[in-house]
Amino acid sequence: MKNIAKDVYQISLFPRNAINCYLIEDVLIDAGIRTSSNKILKSIKEKSVTKHALTHAHADHQGSSKIICETLNIPLLCSDAEKEFAESGNVFTEYPNPNHIFSKFQKNFWAGKGHSVAKTLKEGDQIGGFTVIETPGHSSGHLSFFREKDGILIVGDVMTNMNLLTTKVGLHEPPHLFTADKETNRKSILKLASLNPKILCFGHGPILFNNGELEKFIQKSKIAY
Ligand SMILES: [Zn+2]
Repeated sequence: MKNIAKDVYQISLFPRNAINCYLIEDVLIDAGIRTSSNKILKSIKEKSVTKHALTHAHADHQGSSKIICETLNIPLLCSDAEKEFAESGNVFTEYPNPNHIFSKFQKNFWAGKGHSVAKTLKEGDQIGGFTVIETPGHSSGHLSFFREKDGILIVGDVMTNMNLLTTKVGLHEPPHLFTADKETNRKSILKLASLNPKILCFGHGPILFNNGELEKFIQKSKIAY
């Protein structure tokens, strides 16, 4: 795993940073797909990890949550709106088209079993030095995590930093196929931009050390208040 900032590590689970999870202080954020557990557990074995939190309960974020929580005997945390999906493992309920072939593929090959949620998180809660930011849209209970003192932001899937088909690096809105409410997600993009994040960590794509790329993306995509 890669050290991004003080006590923040990226665990890249697929080539070209296609799927990532993160260790922020003593909290594992997201857990890849169902076959990611060995890689994640190996990466964090020297670290003290006391909690596992989800940005959202999609198959490429909750895939190894159950096995990791059980192996490390740590609690699972997510927003109230995601709780039902994290616990049932029915992680496609909100997709605009749950019967699409990609949705079915994720269900059959990526999704992990559900696991009970020990505590729910809401806007303003603290996770170590990070503040919980509610960023609905991609999923109704999506969360991001922001550490103000150094501007590091765990974006989740509010934006991706790659084209998911070609893997070319660059900022994008998340794919419509897997996004519950595009307009609400656009509001969440603006909410995150208003924090002036310096380092952006995505569910999909490499880390972005922001030098105006975020602002350019917002202008270009005509995402307006
Ligand atoms: Zn997602």
